[in-house]
Amino acid sequence: MAKLIYLDNNATTAVRPQVRAAMEPFLAEAYANPSSLHRFGADAGRALDDARERVAEFLGASSATEIVFTSCGTEANVTAIRGILAAAPAKRHIVSTQVEHPSVLLLLEQLEQEGYRVTYLPVAADGSLAAERVMEALTDDTALVTVMAANNETGVLFPFEEIARGVRERGIPFHVDAVQAVPHLPLSLPSSPVDLLTFSGHKLHAPKGIAVLYVRKGLKLRPLLVGHQERGARGGTENVAGAVGLAKACELAGAGYDDEERVAHLRDRLQEGLLARIPGVSVNGARDRRVSSVLSVLVDGIEGETLVLMASEKGIAISTGSACTAGSVEPSHVLLAMGIPYEKALGALRFSLSRMTQKEEIDTVLDEMPALVATLRNVKSGARADA
Ligand code: PLP
Repeated sequence: MAKLIYLDNNATTAVRPQVRAAMEPFLAEAYANPSSLHRFGADAGRALDDARERVAEFLGASSATEIVFTSCGTEANVTAIRGILAAAPAKRHIVSTQVEHPSVLLLLEQLEQEGYRVTYLPVAADGSLAAERVMEALTDDTALVTVMAANNETGVLFPFEEIARGVRERGIPFHVDAVQAVPHLPLSLPSSPVDLLTFSGHKLHAPKGIAVLYVRKGLKLRPLLVGHQERGARGGTENVAGAVGLAKACELAGAGYDDEERVAHLRDRLQEGLLARIPGVSVNGARDRRVSSVLSVLVDGIEGETLVLMASEKGIAISTGSACTAGSVEPSHVLLAMGIPYEKALGALRFSLSRMTQKEEIDTVLDEMPALVATLRNVKSGARADA
């Protein structure tokens, strides 16, 4: 098998060696429960406090008490959304978009069954969302606005700070799912009117099983999981090793945002190379408003799923839509919301790079992909001729 070229970083990322090393003592020796009274518990508690401080610093939060550790981005999203709704039960309207991650969309569907009214804002053909559309959707009954920062399939950025400002003026809580933005964009919460923010460790070179919900001080939130941990905001024995790993990953991410320019160059090299070498390729999403690492394309006349499997035989890991929908042959809801026809959307491919991606890897992908597409197209036209 060829060496793995991993361009599926929106699905998950490799754990950095420094992150593994930081976690190791909390798996091997310092594994005590941070709630235990003995000094081993106190040691674990101190490590957790320290991790919380460092994550707060990374986000620019005003206090470590604004950081709630959860098990994943999905849990953080559900905690934010259900937590706000339960704390203000009189209001029954939610504003979101048609292109949120399934962890939000499926929850919103559930909430509709429970009697909530949800406005799913459409996006433009380039995947963008104007802040005014959000403001127009607000009513006196709106309990919450939840909008993502960067789309997991196209990388397109939403103006979430502008949206947050407008929403705050109306006195409505604002949650941002920043899972795909935090790895690529420095955030500054002090200057931002965001009330709740989600991000997830495994998209940031920390392991799976740890994520963060930032909750602005003073905001009332009913917990999803009850217990005394996390100051009552999230019950369940804390994942100390995960929190320590996440804090290390945040430190490394924060120190390396300059490298995003190099990642963007590599992504653009891949984009231009695919456009030049393969006929019938087009780019999805606003090219000038994407995170640096993502390239979503449509390839005419092929099924993305088959191409992903063929590429994997060559040691190249890419994706069709988001990993969460990759098990089904339905086209991506994000591409459909952008007005891309059903059949065309089946030819979608997503390449997602990381700061570990090297130029040689991009060049290998550019060498391999044209032949794979040609083979697939030949098979399809042969099958049509035989029919
Ligand atoms: N939100 C977005 C935008 C995502 O891309 C993902 C994961 O792909 C999630 C939420 C869910 O995060 P997790 O996998 O940690 O539950």
